[in-house]
Amino acid sequence: MSSLSNDGRMQAEEDMERVLWSPTDIEKRVVELGASISHDFSHSLPLIVIAVATGAFMFAADLVRKISLPISIEFIRVQSYGNRTESSGVAVISTELQIDIIDKHVLVIEDIIDTGTTLSRLVSYLKEKGAASVSVCALLDKVLRRKIPLQLPPGSRFYRGFECPDDFVVGYGMDFAEEYRNLPYIGLLKPAKYSA
Ligand code: 5GP
Repeated sequence: MSSLSNDGRMQAEEDMERVLWSPTDIEKRVVELGASISHDFSHSLPLIVIAVATGAFMFAADLVRKISLPISIEFIRVQSYGNRTESSGVAVISTELQIDIIDKHVLVIEDIIDTGTTLSRLVSYLKEKGAASVSVCALLDKVLRRKIPLQLPPGSRFYRGFECPDDFVVGYGMDFAEEYRNLPYIGLLKPAKYSA
């Protein structure tokens, strides 16, 4: 039986080393990010929000409700991870964009930046599609793990929720082997759970 069945929350808590950011911590930061974005883009409309599926679904849902501007929203899939905790080093855009972004300002919503492979591939793709600017709002940033520096086009902005330690985190949309996405907090998984 899956560990996220009826008693999933209880089982998930047993799998957790510790909670890094509680629902209250996350909500407070999301409000701040929403206010900054609403302020910064008030003269850069229309704004197209592109959220990276699946990991950013919860963050995106909360963040867009704190952006007090007219926006369009689309989800895109970029795959660079299998079921393990290390990047394959290659990121593939696995769903084509359905909307026209030529000369539009784009804000990418990402759950976590690790090596930078995923985001750098996505930023290049959105530039190739003709975006006027490609800004990024990442909830978590593993600054110490970066292999590919983030190079945003002129006029783009970067927002970071929290700096993340070099550990594998789950919850609030983020998974390990498709589990734990529905947790309302972000926690460190016990190493035994992913090194088994
Ligand atoms: P990058 O391409 O920057 O190395 O990795 C980015 C992607 O890897 C994220 O979108 C996320 O899907 C996944 N990722 C990186 N670190 C973690 C982590 O600690 N936990 C989880 N659940 N996913 C991670």
